[in-house]
Amino acid sequence: MITRRSWMLASAGVAAAAAAAQGGGKNVVIASGNGSRACTKAMELLQAGRDTLEAVIAGVNIIEEDPNDSSVGYGGLPNEEGVVELDACVMHGPTRRAGAVGALRGIKTPSRVARLVMERTDHIMLVGEGALRFAKAHGFQEENLLTDRARKAWLAWKESLRDKNRHNNWGPGLDAPPEERQAFLERFFPGADEATLAWAWEVIADPPTGTINCLALNARGEMSGVTTTSGLAWKIPGRVGDSPIIGAGLYVDQDVGAAGSTGRGEENIRVVGAHTVVENMRHGMSAREAVLDCLKRISRNYGDDLDRLALFDINFYALRKDGDFAAGSLWNVSRPYRGGKPRPRRFTYNDGTGTRTADCVFLYRRKI
Ligand code: ASP
Repeated sequence: MITRRSWMLASAGVAAAAAAAQGGGKNVVIASGNGSRACTKAMELLQAGRDTLEAVIAGVNIIEEDPNDSSVGYGGLPNEEGVVELDACVMHGPTRRAGAVGALRGIKTPSRVARLVMERTDHIMLVGEGALRFAKAHGFQEENLLTDRARKAWLAWKESLRDKNRHNNWGPGLDAPPEERQAFLERFFPGADEATLAWAWEVIADPPTGTINCLALNARGEMSGVTTTSGLAWKIPGRVGDSPIIGAGLYVDQDVGAAGSTGRGEENIRVVGAHTVVENMRHGMSAREAVLDCLKRISRNYGDDLDRLALFDINFYALRKDGDFAAGSLWNVSRPYRGGKPRPRRFTYNDGTGTRTADCVFLYRRKI
């Protein structure tokens, strides 16, 4: 027999499910920690009624074109031969389409090329030389993406290997006067401030990763996402990480939600992270639960050995169709370098009331 109370509870449940299916009725953008300008831009476009994919791409273009961000697009740190190679992918929820480029050289905005692969080919992914030719065919300008700062950091890294390997011939030779060997970083960054020198030491000793992932939901419940990166610094030419891999660096399912990742791509590919996060949400997990479960799978791949897990970091971002969102990191803070301060893992979001940063949830607390 249906009582008035059980009828009301049942209808509340149906209403909640319907709200989730329709979207939460508001615009939401989330992005990795370096994405605050992207969030602001994407929200501006969503509020102007523009398409979700257009919004997130316009957002990340700001970072791709910024020479001072050394982990994405122009100004990104190069591969071991000093060449910048970029990876990116996009997914458009409403049309359920995807596009990607890998190891693309010479084009500042790989996210736009990924979108063209989606829209103007019958393929999903183009890589290397073919991707560049395709971009040029569509009028993209081929440019040198290696900024002076990134070139010097690369050269300093190459010369630093001399101390570790006597067969490396880059850097002052055996016959060089001792003072030339000592003023190592000053050779590359004469007169540089402390912050630049600290950055250079860090990228030499601990090849950084860094990427931007940006996900959007609009008031109509439509979703899209983009991930774009210059990948791992000093990588082997041709190395493609997780960022352009649909299902790893990014996944969007218009019925459920969207997810993306930054951090050590090799770990993500092995758990097909973004897809895993979305599937977790499909089976009822909150965004927070979904990212934590995915991080546990990564930990499991190392038998939960904290010493090995401490050598890298990885982050997942999740946005459910009902507007619930979260970001999660393997560790609460970044690896401290040379006694520097470990940085808390943060992400950025904008729910229509301004761009903010928040702490990621995390699986483990680093021993400092
Ligand atoms: N996931 C990127 C890669 O492995 C790098 C990063 O996000 O830091 O290429």
